[in-house]
Amino acid sequence: MSISAGSTVGFVGLGHMGGPMAINLAKAGFVVQGFDVAPAALDAAAAEGVTPVTTIKQAVAGADVVITSLPNGALVHQCYHGDAGILANAQPNALLIDTSTIDVDDARAAADEARAAGLRALDAPVSGGVVGAKAGTLAFMVGGPEDVVDAARPVFDVMGAKAVRCGDSGAGQAVKLCNNMLLAIHQIGVGEAFALAKKLGVEDQAFFDVASVATGTCWALNVNCPVPGPVPASPANRDYQPGFAVGLMNKDLGLALGAVEKQGVDAKLGKLAGEVYSDLNQTDAATKDFSVVYRSIASNSGLEG
Ligand code: NAD
Repeated sequence: MSISAGSTVGFVGLGHMGGPMAINLAKAGFVVQGFDVAPAALDAAAAEGVTPVTTIKQAVAGADVVITSLPNGALVHQCYHGDAGILANAQPNALLIDTSTIDVDDARAAADEARAAGLRALDAPVSGGVVGAKAGTLAFMVGGPEDVVDAARPVFDVMGAKAVRCGDSGAGQAVKLCNNMLLAIHQIGVGEAFALAKKLGVEDQAFFDVASVATGTCWALNVNCPVPGPVPASPANRDYQPGFAVGLMNKDLGLALGAVEKQGVDAKLGKLAGEVYSDLNQTDAATKDFSVVYRSIASNSGLEG
């Protein structure tokens, strides 16, 4: 049976990302059976049309689709396995979509195990943050067989603005980690360029006006501009309220650098970015937007910030 409004979705993990995604599915007419170990998350989703349940078994009962949005790979593994887990209790041919950001190898292993259990599986990490999750404008990077991605499109269409198939199982996670390693490098580079420009007596706006339309152009400059002023909507204008928090960037860099190590890639800048965000994550900036890295660059450079 094809998946469409009216289909049953089991949703495990109703946090910052999963909560709004589950609510959007419920509002679009899916029957959403939501489970979270945190009662507050369960209550918040229940108030917006999600049917709250108290076990994974109840969440996946009769579900055509099972979506997970969990903090890390260990918890995805925990929710998938065991007598009370997703693999043992999902109905035959159910379509599992893991939207958590996890290690590529863990994602491949989870998909293999799902197939062995007679289920279909996709890794589909997201970009777009909490704002995108609420607005239903997330971008999904999807790994898995083409026909399974196509079958899942009615669900992706509600939760996001686009879902790009990146390749076979694990490819969605791979693209997410590579993109975020690049993003971290960009954000640090943009911060260093602003600091140097300022030291050389150049106004932030003047540097922005040129670099944003010249060869230095990138999202970390044009949208997530780390100095207040040039881009009024950027987190720098609201004391670096996230956005995408340092802690989450640090997590993604840890996963990316694990893959760098395993694959033997010469990623000098990626490793340096990992050190920068790991240090920042030990400070009171851990919950700020990751563009806050400019503040420490400026302060280490004798600038006011
Ligand atoms: P979160 O911590 O807000 O939500 C995770 C939820 O999972 C929590 O409500 C928690 O109680 C629940 N949970 C934990 N263990 C569970 C279990 N065994 N069974 C059921 N529920 C359980 O995290 P988040 O910000 O929503 O992120 C979810 C995933 O999305 C992460 O992998 C994160 O890296 C990724 N992500 C987050 C963002 C973001 O901006 N927050 C952006 C992109 C990707």
